[in-house]
Amino acid sequence: MTELSGLQIFKYLPAAKKAEHTNCKGCGCPTCMAFALKLAKHQIDINKCNYVSKELREIYERNSKQPQKTIEINGIKIGGENVLYRHEKTFVNKTAIAVILDLEKSDWKEKLDRIKKFEITRVNEKLKVDLIITKNGQLPDSIKFEDFNKLPLIKIEDSNFSDTSTKLVEIREKAVLEKDEKFSDPVCVYLKHTDNLNVLCAKASYYICKYANILLFEDFDEKLFTSLMMLRQNIFTDPQKPLQVESKIYEFNNPDENSLIFMTTNFALTFFAVANELESLPLPSYLIVTPADGMSVLTAWSAEKFTAKIVAKTLKKFDFANKVKNRKIIIPGLLADMKEELEEEIKDFEIVVGTIDAFAISDFVKNIDNNKNY
Ligand code: SF4
Repeated sequence: MTELSGLQIFKYLPAAKKAEHTNCKGCGCPTCMAFALKLAKHQIDINKCNYVSKELREIYERNSKQPQKTIEINGIKIGGENVLYRHEKTFVNKTAIAVILDLEKSDWKEKLDRIKKFEITRVNEKLKVDLIITKNGQLPDSIKFEDFNKLPLIKIEDSNFSDTSTKLVEIREKAVLEKDEKFSDPVCVYLKHTDNLNVLCAKASYYICKYANILLFEDFDEKLFTSLMMLRQNIFTDPQKPLQVESKIYEFNNPDENSLIFMTTNFALTFFAVANELESLPLPSYLIVTPADGMSVLTAWSAEKFTAKIVAKTLKKFDFANKVKNRKIIIPGLLADMKEELEEEIKDFEIVVGTIDAFAISDFVKNIDNNKNY
């Protein structure tokens, strides 16, 4: 059984049964329903109500148990998952990616060097190997294989996809649906290296989605790890919180007071699409990123999170009009209808309608450069 909802709890309270003490306020809440809703969120002690039945108490205590334990290895949190599907809430701790380093093998130094150099920055997050497990010795910041084996983990050696994936699903279901303590330790899958990296990548990708807490690799491969970490980043973001970047003025290729000025919202995917294009332009530029709760431009516009007033406030906050001589701001093509409204509110700048797609920015800029009259 997953977490109890307020309505499920309410069914057991006096108000639902039209019994004595209905809405008596003895718990400090105005109604039994208010108590039930608070209890579902663990915001009130169940003992505040003197009329909770034995049946409700048992169900509540069983449901309040954490399905999966959390452990910490070298500062990395592992496990602690509460749900089967990320849209129910969110997944909590991303699948740790670990590599075995055998210090008796002649190439261990070269391999360690490659692991340490491996770092990708994506959507403001630095992605790198989480844990190094050493065999036949120990290095600073690594864990000895013998010590790793003593950790409270359910270990699965991946022999074939069908067996491993079935075991992973069974363990998570037992932990989350039945709160069975025998299955409450985080799960580590050990993957042997194979010449067919595509198959290894496909299997490991599935295990990230369902439901490995650690993937322990026999070997290290930059391309494989890049794919897996990018997938992992997508799976372990909170589906209720859009990815967003800081609202500020970003600079590309050392702009000066005459450089091009672009504008977009703080939705991370839009930002990085535009930023990549601006970075690769032969011209310097600014990108004004307005606060929009991480919404894309059209969504922000329809939710009134991208308005002329918000744009004006952002420019004022960064005192932008005094920083540049250029008086033209290029807005996303999707917001062409806002041109007049923006120009009415922002007296310091003229608004130029740019491209709908980020990939078209380069051609757009070539035309500006040729005509100089955008
Ligand atoms: Fe309802 Fe119990 Fe609170 Fe009284 S004390 S209002 S019965 S939940």
